Amino acid sequence: MKPAVPRVKERTEAQTFYHFLTLSADDVRRVEAGLHQDAKELGIVGLIILGTEGLNATASGPSRELQLFVERAGELLSPGFRFLNIKSSWIEPGEKLPFLEFVVKVRPEIVTLKRTDLLPHDPNSPTHLSPADWHEQLQAPGAVIIDTRNTYESVIGTFRGALTPEIEEFSEFPEWLDKTPLDKSAPTYIFCTGGIRCEKAIRSLEEKGFEKVYQLDGGILNYINQFPKNEKPESLWDGECFVFDNRIAVDGNGRASQKYTACPHCGQPAQHAVFCVRCDSPATLCDSCYETQATRDALTCSKNCAHHWSVSPGKKGHPQVL
Ligand SMILES: [Zn+2]
Ligand SMILES: [Zn+2]
Repeated sequence: MKPAVPRVKERTEAQTFYHFLTLSADDVRRVEAGLHQDAKELGIVGLIILGTEGLNATASGPSRELQLFVERAGELLSPGFRFLNIKSSWIEPGEKLPFLEFVVKVRPEIVTLKRTDLLPHDPNSPTHLSPADWHEQLQAPGAVIIDTRNTYESVIGTFRGALTPEIEEFSEFPEWLDKTPLDKSAPTYIFCTGGIRCEKAIRSLEEKGFEKVYQLDGGILNYINQFPKNEKPESLWDGECFVFDNRIAVDGNGRASQKYTACPHCGQPAQHAVFCVRCDSPATLCDSCYETQATRDALTCSKNCAHHWSVSPGKKGHPQVL
């Protein structure tokens, strides 16, 4: 089993942000080097996807240093530029460290739809809805709500009444649109975790003839910041929101999930407590691994035990210690 994720000692902030702009290959190298230098100097961890179409990031660290890091990152992209729509969340002492290191990945797309030609709308375009406008318009009769995320994300939480495509990765979304009967003249509302997937998804919908498409600005993370669970007005978000770091998910108040850990077999959110058939260690499995393995009557705690059990069924082994 993987070692336990370290906990934060002091109150830490995580910020998610992105920006589309055209960079040259030289710019990308310069920005990459600058980000590494700043992260090292300021003690920032996180994951940044960088490319010739912009930057997509989640970074974490002490609040003041993080602020400075995000300002400098904007400056690196373009002098005087400041990121819009930064989604912030807090990690309290004792909660899981969201990242163990600082990583920059250079990719052809900063969100992968396999369409480098699709350019987002202007950030100020009326197709971007603030959480308040989203909250109001979602309740209008005839609104079609589409979750642009993957199935493993939507199963643990989504907006009330949303259609949840059965897709394993975002690049399958346009194909799902083609085979799903939808009214292209109906007002259509799309959302994702932090808003970036919708920047491309909206262009894909428009290309296919959808007439009125709106995207949730800043995504679910922005919405739950402004409409936290158990407060008035009542949140339209149900369940938890999968995030791409050690927290696995955040709850309806933006706090690290208490409910989900990562499945040791596939890394997806897990909540089925089991005992390993081979070593008797407790483990938490995701829905799909739980079901596939259950039919074989062989629930295991780890890839290691799964392998040994498949080679020598019935043979017990040493506990896989945390
Ligand atoms: Zn085991
Ligand atoms: Zn799994």
